[in-house]
Order: sequence, then C-alpha cells, then structure tokens
Amino acid sequence: MQAFLPFPSALNLRSHMPRLRIQLTALVLAALAPFPGARAFADSDSTMKQIRIEKKPFGTFGGKSVDQYVLANAHGMTVRIMTYGATVTAIDVPDRGGNPDDIVLGFDDLKGYLQTVPYFGAIVGRVGNRIAKGLFTLDGKTYKLAVNDGPNHLHGGLKGFDKVVWDAAPVPGQDGSVRFSYLSKDGEEGYPGNCRVEVTYTLGDDDSLKLEYVVTTDADTPVNVTNHSYFNLDGPENGSILDQSMTLNADRYTPVDSTLIPTGELAPVAGTPMDFTKPVAIGARVLQVGGNPKGYDHNYVVNGGGGKLVFVARAAGPRSGRVMEVYSTEPGVQFYSGNFLDGTLVGKKGVAYKQYWGFCLETQHFPDSVNQPTFPSYVLKAGDTYRSSTIFKFSAQ
Ligand code: BGC
Repeated sequence: MQAFLPFPSALNLRSHMPRLRIQLTALVLAALAPFPGARAFADSDSTMKQIRIEKKPFGTFGGKSVDQYVLANAHGMTVRIMTYGATVTAIDVPDRGGNPDDIVLGFDDLKGYLQTVPYFGAIVGRVGNRIAKGLFTLDGKTYKLAVNDGPNHLHGGLKGFDKVVWDAAPVPGQDGSVRFSYLSKDGEEGYPGNCRVEVTYTLGDDDSLKLEYVVTTDADTPVNVTNHSYFNLDGPENGSILDQSMTLNADRYTPVDSTLIPTGELAPVAGTPMDFTKPVAIGARVLQVGGNPKGYDHNYVVNGGGGKLVFVARAAGPRSGRVMEVYSTEPGVQFYSGNFLDGTLVGKKGVAYKQYWGFCLETQHFPDSVNQPTFPSYVLKAGDTYRSSTIFKFSAQ
C-alpha cells in the first residue's frame, strides 16, 4: 500500500491534495475488486458508499434457497445475516489492537442451525419470550398457542420467525441496509391476523448495527419481535463471558416464578445480585441468582424506555477491550447469561458452547404482557404499525 500511495509530508500536503484524492478513490475501488457488488459501491453521482454488501448462497431449506448477506465497513467490522430466521450468523469486530474476531455464537453452515438450537442470532416472534400456558384472550376470544417451554409458550412457538426463510434485499438509497421481510399468515402458530414483518439491518460506518422492525396486521394481535444473538466480546474460542462486564440502565426488573413467568411486580435491583446500574463482571454474582440452572434470565425495566431511543446496556470484554453499547426504543431488555448452554452444541471454530459462553440482550416488551394488564401493551391493532429500533454500537478501549 505504501508503494501505491506515498504519503506526502505535512508541509507539502496541500499541493498533493488533488493527486491524493484520485489515488484514494483508486485505492478504495481496488480494495473492492474481490466483491462482485463492487460496482454498486459508487452511486451514479459518484458519491462513495461506506458499506459493501455481498450476497452469497447459504444452502436450502424446505425447497427454498437460503442466502447470506455480508455487510462490511472500512474499519474491519463485518456482519453476516442469513435469510433463514433473518439470523445474524457472525459479527466481526476489531479488538483494542485492531484485530477483528467473530463475537457471536453460531455455526459455519446452515446445517448447524437446523439442529435444536436455542435461537442463536435469530429474529424471534411473533411474540418473543414467554406467554403463560400458551393462552391469551383478545377482543373476547381465547387463543391457544403451542406450549414449547415447560408449561409455557416461548419465542413464537414450534415454528416461529426463527425457523422460516425470509425474503431479503438491500434497501435502495440507504447505505449499508438490508431489509428482511416475512408474511406471517393468520392462524400461524395460533396467532390471529396476517402480519407483515420487516426487519432492516443497517451496518454503519461508525461500527453500529441498527435493527429496525416494522410490523402491520389486518387483525388485532400481540407482537414482540427481537433479535436473539449470543455475544461473547472476547471471542467464544477464548473462554466464557463470566469476566465480561455488564451495565444495565435499569433500576427495576420483573421477578419471575419457577417457570420464568413474571409475577407482575416491578422490583428494585438495588442491594441485590440483579443490580447492574454500575459495571459488574457477569460472573461476580451469577451463582447468587436463583433459577435452575442458576443465572440471569430476567427482563429489566429500562429507565425511560419504551418510546424514544435510550441507552440500555454497555458490555465490555476485559481481554480484547471490545465494548458493545445497546440503545433501544423498547421498554425492556431480557438479560440472559446463557444458563442453559451445556457444551453439546459445537459451533464455529469447533468451539463447544458451554454454560455462560454467551450473553443475550433481547430488547423487548416485558414477558407475558398479553396476560399482564399492568405491563406496557404489545397488542398491535389492525391497521396500526408497530415500530421498534435497537442499535448495537461497537468500539474498543
Ligand atoms: C429465554 C431463556 C431461554 C433462551 C433460549 C431466552 O430469551 O429467556 O429462558 O432459555 O431464550 O431459548
């Protein structure tokens, strides 16, 4: 690169500017050469785009082809999302030394995701998290959903949004954006109404990954969609998440019963192992938290959340220096410390995903809201539009 672009000294920089600009453009185009979509990188008006988008075949499911979209920015951040489950399969982020590593749990190929997998990277819905006993009543009618988690309904049922092939395409005129869409038909998994679901993933030049959800329906229905990525900021091949620190912008959480259904109470975190209002290593108190298996699997009530985009969480990996901040319009976030992982799933780089090998921050409405009148409602009325945004912002320190 040095031979190609001899950097002018500060003193004569000005006189070199026009040449420098031409060389930089040539350099960017040369770097793009391996990407088939390279031509799309420069707008018709020659404005340089910041993010490369490439589409690759990723197998077939149910007779449909599955594609993977690869989004890459100029700083070494790459995000891969496949159309099966609109699933994030990889996020590469540079560490404090500038070395990128993949920081989410998952598999190299589609086959891995077709095992019984706890929603690695997927979009979950129509209703993410639990509905008690799979039952709810809406507009005077009682609906019975699949019970797929002990006595309860979890993450949309037996074949939720994570187990279907979505349509996808880059968003014209929107740099770094790919939109995934899916029509969830009336009666699917027992839910009422035809629901059109769109999730737009946008990789930013500022190392942010933004998720924007838009849902419409032709009959009233509960909707609570979220992304279920498992993060390990120091890289899953380097150990568990127990020494990674967590900060949650939440003074309260929703305590649960033994089947993980909220009791309805909004309890203060102060003075308990649930308190992450200041940064604490995830493992510092994980065994003091109840549950079977023990660990965090709780919905936190985001301070000031549920409307405008607010700060939700900050996690940091002490070994890599990687930092992830989360912002969302959702009122809650499920902090899950990977308690149910048991080492039987072997993922990318041959790593066995053991207990506490990844954490999730699922921005959402509170679990079982459809049965809890005191919680913010997630019922989407026919003709209304559900909108929700979450940003994962990466850096290194
Ligand atoms: C739930 C956990 C569950 C995990 C994987 C989380 O959202 O709260 O209880 O084990 O998803 O299914």
